Amino acid sequence: MFAKVIIDISNANVDRLFTYSIPDELEIDPGHRVLVPFGRGNKQIEGFVIETFEETTTNISFEIKPILRRMEPYTVLLPDQLKLSEWITRAYHCTRADALRVMIPAKLRGSRIKEKIVRTFLLAEDIDIQAARNSLLKKDGSPRSPKQLEIFDLIANSGLEISSEDINSYIPNASAAINALVGKGMLIESGHVTFRNPFANERIISTDPPLLTDEQKAALNIINSEEPGRCILLHGVTGSGKTEVYMQAIASVLESGGGAILLVPEISLTPQTTDRFRSRFGELIAVLHSHLSDGERYDEWRRIRFGKAKVVIGARSAVFAPVENLQLIVIDEEHEPSYQSETTPKYSAIEVALRRIKLTNARLVLGSATPSLGDYYKAKRGLFTLAEMPDRINGIPLPKVDIVDMRDEFLNGNDSIFSNFLTENLHRCLDNGEQAILFLNRRGYSSHAECRACGFVFTCPNCDVALTYHKYDETLRCHYCGAHFSMPKLCPGCGKEYLKYTGIGTQQVEEQLIKLFPEIRCIRMDTDTTGGKTSHRELLSAFGSGKADVLIGTQMVAKGLDIPNVTLVGVIFADSTLFHSDYRSSERTFQLLTQVAGRAGRAEKNGNVIIQTNAPEHRAIRLCKNHDYKSFYALEIRDRMHTLFPPFAVFIRAMFIGYDEAHAYESSERFAKGITLRLLSTYKLYNSEKELLFVAPGAAPIKRRSNEFRYSVIIKLVRTSHTAAAINAIYAFGDEFNDEYYRGVEINPADML
Ligand code: ADP
Ligand code: ZN
Repeated sequence: MFAKVIIDISNANVDRLFTYSIPDELEIDPGHRVLVPFGRGNKQIEGFVIETFEETTTNISFEIKPILRRMEPYTVLLPDQLKLSEWITRAYHCTRADALRVMIPAKLRGSRIKEKIVRTFLLAEDIDIQAARNSLLKKDGSPRSPKQLEIFDLIANSGLEISSEDINSYIPNASAAINALVGKGMLIESGHVTFRNPFANERIISTDPPLLTDEQKAALNIINSEEPGRCILLHGVTGSGKTEVYMQAIASVLESGGGAILLVPEISLTPQTTDRFRSRFGELIAVLHSHLSDGERYDEWRRIRFGKAKVVIGARSAVFAPVENLQLIVIDEEHEPSYQSETTPKYSAIEVALRRIKLTNARLVLGSATPSLGDYYKAKRGLFTLAEMPDRINGIPLPKVDIVDMRDEFLNGNDSIFSNFLTENLHRCLDNGEQAILFLNRRGYSSHAECRACGFVFTCPNCDVALTYHKYDETLRCHYCGAHFSMPKLCPGCGKEYLKYTGIGTQQVEEQLIKLFPEIRCIRMDTDTTGGKTSHRELLSAFGSGKADVLIGTQMVAKGLDIPNVTLVGVIFADSTLFHSDYRSSERTFQLLTQVAGRAGRAEKNGNVIIQTNAPEHRAIRLCKNHDYKSFYALEIRDRMHTLFPPFAVFIRAMFIGYDEAHAYESSERFAKGITLRLLSTYKLYNSEKELLFVAPGAAPIKRRSNEFRYSVIIKLVRTSHTAAAINAIYAFGDEFNDEYYRGVEINPADML
């Protein structure tokens, strides 16, 4: 028998199948990881077995080396994952090794992680208990070693096998004494592999599924009766009960013996969502996200691989989880940019899911209150099946939204960050003993520091961006390279004492709020306060249990929160995401505002949302008032069609990065010239040269980052049936483009910075 193996080295030169022989004593299947001798020096390297075959042709002219051993006794990749990896290699133009690596826990490779072994001890089988005990006593009957005697009695009396952890909890510092008893042959050490449990210290309260509303029933019915391989777009307003629909769809998959994957944005992963699922499905749930330790992630992954967990909840990369008989993938908040990977392979979890369901005959559900325009467009054209839930559960109304023009507020003499209307409403909310969320789309105390006298602005010495002032430790920080400096008293430009902070941050909102409401209890949540493994969860649960009146936060308060006592949501400044140079800024603003508005009034009490803005007439803000996704979609998609933006066009970006600016610049120019010719000749085959809209070389918006210069070539193509051929031509051109500054191409990058 022979095996075709992908060597676990990410390098185009070795990115092909190598043949090895399988020694008789080894049982090797596709999906096993193996150790093989590689290259002239027969260096031992890990690899993935892609296929196995029997020798048919009689003489093979080259020497075939044998596989040395299996890395794991089980296959680490399922057959559908092997096929998926082949597709990823083609679709995202990466090596097969890169495509295979994303499917297994990183630390599995190179055997950097070990099973956790629980050491246990039991009485040796053949000893005379009384004689053994006596030997532990002195002549006068007192113990030679009190600890040894205590341990011996504990184990002898219980008749059980006891773990060293448990022994130590009865008898502190027992380890040396245990070892001594083992040495005397009285105890036998045993042990077994255990799974680290990230939820070890939490209780689960199990819940029964509620009766579905008619809207939910209809949506569930569409999902359950859809053909395998199809995608359903579930458009349901915030609080319409989408999560409940996911749970019941998953329940019916489990009933028929299948498994399921639920992707949620990383940020909404820790707190409420997983608890809801675990209380319904218990130990069948496995969770994969970036806050797990390597050991925990490895153990969760194995619980999935061995079928102990059949439902995986995770962030983007959980789309690769080794779920056997995968019947359903659900992607919640499908419009979130975090489903796009920014590291190799630069995949879209939605595209991967669409491919994977074809391979396993599963179905895909994309859920959102504000679907991405591209996906809604696909649903409108019948490529996806549309299911809609336009109302909240139990006739609860969507919150009332008021828009406050902050320019009027300023003209009327109010230059604080709270409009009078928001202040009044906060008063009422607090008087009623209800809770509020204040949302600000920024982090830090203020965006940057500048001098009122000379206009000096603090910028990062390594990157072309302004530094952010952080009040808690009086520092100026760069969010791109991490450089930080303490804030000087005097302006370095003119030496005067006129430094001020422009823009607003969550800390400033908190300070001003305390001035207005001295008694108020606030929790502030942004990337500065939620560093650790549990703090995000802790802050939310403190707020959820009423330990604070107001939650102030950035993006991370916008999603998934379901707190019945929250009746007021204030958006401090809605415009901060609006006037970016990105074509998606209006779509993203609408999505974010709708999401955050959806946190208000989710139970009996009515909700109020107040959006403060300088651009009340902008459609992304105006249409939030009536939660009017469909009008927003109709206007925005019409504009995109007229101006040829995605989904009607594709942006492709090639990056050139390095310390020498002239080099970076010249590389981008040379690439632009070459790719223009290549694309024109590709399109000529179809008589469609007009589909190449432009090729634009130039400096990236952040031209210097960590002292490296960044140039890009942006290519814009009309999306047609020829686009795939054009993209392949770009990949091929990139492979031939011999330049150390070239960093590959991205299709529709999540941001253009
Ligand atoms: P969405 O995910 O669409 O925002 P959720 O699934 O979180 O909505 O549902 C909103 C609230 O309604 C939750 O508190 C949930 O427990 C509750 N809920 C959902 N479905 C039902 C139902 N059929 N009957 C009663 N309560 C429900
Ligand atoms: Zn920097």
